[in-house]
Amino acid sequence: MNTIEKKLELDNIALELKNLKQGELYKTATQAVPGEGNPDTDILFIGEAPGFSEDQLGRPFVGNSGKLLDKMLLSISLSREDIFITNIIKHRPPDNRDPLPEEIKIYTPFLKRQIRIIQPKIIATLGRFSMNLFLPEEKISQAHGRLFQVGPYHIFPLYHPAAALRAGSILKELENDFQKLKAILNDSNVSSKTTPKPESDSSSV
Ligand code: URA
Repeated sequence: MNTIEKKLELDNIALELKNLKQGELYKTATQAVPGEGNPDTDILFIGEAPGFSEDQLGRPFVGNSGKLLDKMLLSISLSREDIFITNIIKHRPPDNRDPLPEEIKIYTPFLKRQIRIIQPKIIATLGRFSMNLFLPEEKISQAHGRLFQVGPYHIFPLYHPAAALRAGSILKELENDFQKLKAILNDSNVSSKTTPKPESDSSSV
């Protein structure tokens, strides 16, 4: 798929999400937040769900977490134009509550399609919800900063920036993990660095 075809397909998904009438979240959200960025990127970031600012603007990671993410990207000489960023959940949960399993089920097919279109070299998950989509058995405290191969995907779990804003120790880990990410992105043979999962692909994506 060339860049224009990818953009068209991603726009189709955004339109479907705009008209989605499944579950409850679309009823309380201002609008869908499908995700945005470079469809030809090597790296796809996947967060949890839109918060207040994202719901208002219809764009992912534009609040405080997004500002920290921008700082982290800059620290490895990347900007939003270099990456694609989205969430598992595409409508804001009321009061930013955790997504429910049935809500994850509703939105995961859209995420799967985004992944297939973009075909990133690396999927960087932000926080435990997006990590657990690919690595259901892992704990973020153990898995962050390590590269996993899950089926055809290279998964690099990161702490969620919101967690780093709450705790200095996590911020430090996130900074370190971004440096590892830089090294991985510079490595042309990413697969040689992966930690194979012990069992076969049991992820839900
Ligand atoms: N937190 C997320 O997980 N996603 C956003 O888009 C914003 C904050």
